[in-house]
Amino acid sequence: MGSVFKGIVIVLFWGFPSCSTYAQTEQEKLRELELQRQADKQRSIDRQIDSIGTLIDNQEYEAADKKIVAVLQSVRSVPSTLTFYIGKNSFYLAKYKQSVDWLNKYIQLKGTSGQFSEEAIRLKNTAEAELLKERLEESKQTTQVLSKDFDLDCGPTGKVTCPVCNGTTVIIKRGYIGDTYKTCGFCNHEGVLSCADYNKLLKGELKPASK
Ligand SMILES: [Zn+2]
Repeated sequence: MGSVFKGIVIVLFWGFPSCSTYAQTEQEKLRELELQRQADKQRSIDRQIDSIGTLIDNQEYEAADKKIVAVLQSVRSVPSTLTFYIGKNSFYLAKYKQSVDWLNKYIQLKGTSGQFSEEAIRLKNTAEAELLKERLEESKQTTQVLSKDFDLDCGPTGKVTCPVCNGTTVIIKRGYIGDTYKTCGFCNHEGVLSCADYNKLLKGELKPASK
């Protein structure tokens, strides 16, 4: 619609030079319409951001998260209030890394004198403490005792059904054209492994026969 309007304005301008003042007012009108449109969009975004704040206050964090994703898709630049709400909502969703990231943005934008600065700093400190706790938990997990670090006792028979071919001695590869059948290279046509080979297999140390 805007381009059609512009076309008419140009025709008028070329056809009737004396109408230039008329054309100018038309252009002003177009500019005003565009500004109006932008202001409407901004108001709509502001309303949506306000409703995100309300959802967070009502502890509806999942709903707030959905709305945040939607608003982020419709804005070209993220308003500072929204950076705070994302940081706050992420905190309550226990996404602490994301929380620290966005709260930092708010604090960078607003310093210590913003409307939410005090809360942002408090939440950020708590989120950082939670992150540290998470990292400690992770490092504890790496010192867990895992079965792969030990040899397993296969019982009195000293043999275990080959887990590669499930004791069938054949490995079936499903293909688009057809299935291919291959002899299992691990259990030497027997479908069972010795306990020593079984433990090697678990550690990734048992190599299949090259045939
Ligand atoms: Zn096998």
